[in-house]
Amino acid sequence: MNMLMTKLAVSPVRRRFDAPPLLPQIDDVATAEQPDEPLHCLRPNVINSTARTFVAGFPGSVLYALKCNPEPRVMSALWAGGIRRFDCASPAEIALVRQMFPDASIHYMHPVKARGAIRAAWAHQGVRDFVLDSQQELAKILDETGSGATDDRGLIVRLAVRNGGAYDLSGKFGAAPDAAARLLAAARPHAARLGLSFHVGSQCLDPGAYAEAMARAAEVIAAAGVPVEVLDVGGGFPVSYPEVTPAPLAAYMVAIADARAKLGFADVTLWAEPGRALVAAGTSVVVQIQHRRGDALYINDGVYGSLSDAGGPGFRFPVRLIRAGRAPVAAATMAFRLFGPTCDSADRMDGPFMLPADAREGDWIEIGQLGAYGAALRTAFNGFDRARLTDVCDAPLLATPGHAD
Ligand SMILES: *Cc1c(COP(=O)(O)O)cnc(C)c1O
Repeated sequence: MNMLMTKLAVSPVRRRFDAPPLLPQIDDVATAEQPDEPLHCLRPNVINSTARTFVAGFPGSVLYALKCNPEPRVMSALWAGGIRRFDCASPAEIALVRQMFPDASIHYMHPVKARGAIRAAWAHQGVRDFVLDSQQELAKILDETGSGATDDRGLIVRLAVRNGGAYDLSGKFGAAPDAAARLLAAARPHAARLGLSFHVGSQCLDPGAYAEAMARAAEVIAAAGVPVEVLDVGGGFPVSYPEVTPAPLAAYMVAIADARAKLGFADVTLWAEPGRALVAAGTSVVVQIQHRRGDALYINDGVYGSLSDAGGPGFRFPVRLIRAGRAPVAAATMAFRLFGPTCDSADRMDGPFMLPADAREGDWIEIGQLGAYGAALRTAFNGFDRARLTDVCDAPLLATPGHAD
């Protein structure tokens, strides 16, 4: 199991590289192939244009947070959309990016790294930027990259900020403001690029959270008394989910640009590390109903597969019923619960998921917005590790304001 999961970590889905130039629609694929294993439907054109829009709108450099979805076809679509920098957290992620894109900039943004991983990233993978949130990690990085010459070394201090997202990322990493100021001062002599980073929390619905965190960053930089070259505003940019429509992407860009001007960061290079915003709409998972019991639908994917956020975290995803041959479905809808394929009773997703009232065994459900933290979190638990990936041309089930070209 351990071995399997390690292997799956950056290659979660079996791939077909022979993407046809004219992409099919999901209903036609379902009708033709009658998939009884989860079918991951990738929208390369959507990923491409979302990346393009983000890169054009953000007043700085855009690093894609690879953990969100390391599927090579997703990475290729992002590259085609103008992404040239990757936020990586592990040797496997770094190796994958380097193998696919020899010219990419790779940023090692995990605040706690193995010594050997730092050494290999620096010596063999061309990684120059490292994040840290402690004096111990600074010492480690200097040891393993050669503490003499600053070379081209970038050192980025991760600052803890108040959580502003649906997912709290504030509890685990990040230095308190006074410690962060001391780290900036300590790192300055060893850095060709010195920076400060934060993460406001994932799926952040408040553009003001970025401005607030930038104001904290300005205080830390002032307290450190040293110049910095980089301010990294992290990820957290949201997408639409049922009954959740975020402010347009531009509102986030404006909040960040305004804060930058107000706080005197005009000469500082901004970085962002979006994950979810770039790829969520890029993949749907088509699951099959294998049994219906009242309002409970037993399907072939679940919380140990691509749907973990629909379990405990209770995320609702957009859904659509598909019947073979585009046969008609009931106009009336009702609220369903979904149960995954494993024998664990925790493998359930309460939704509610609104679907046609006559949903039945053999139908498929397209579950949307699963390009982010979907396939990336799959396990092989209970033997349910199979899924296929195919490219499609359908529009996303939900649009996010400002994400289209
Ligand atoms: C996960 C993560 C991201 C991406 O966050 P999103 O909310 O998906 O945009 C960016 N930076 C770091 C350090 C992360 O851990």
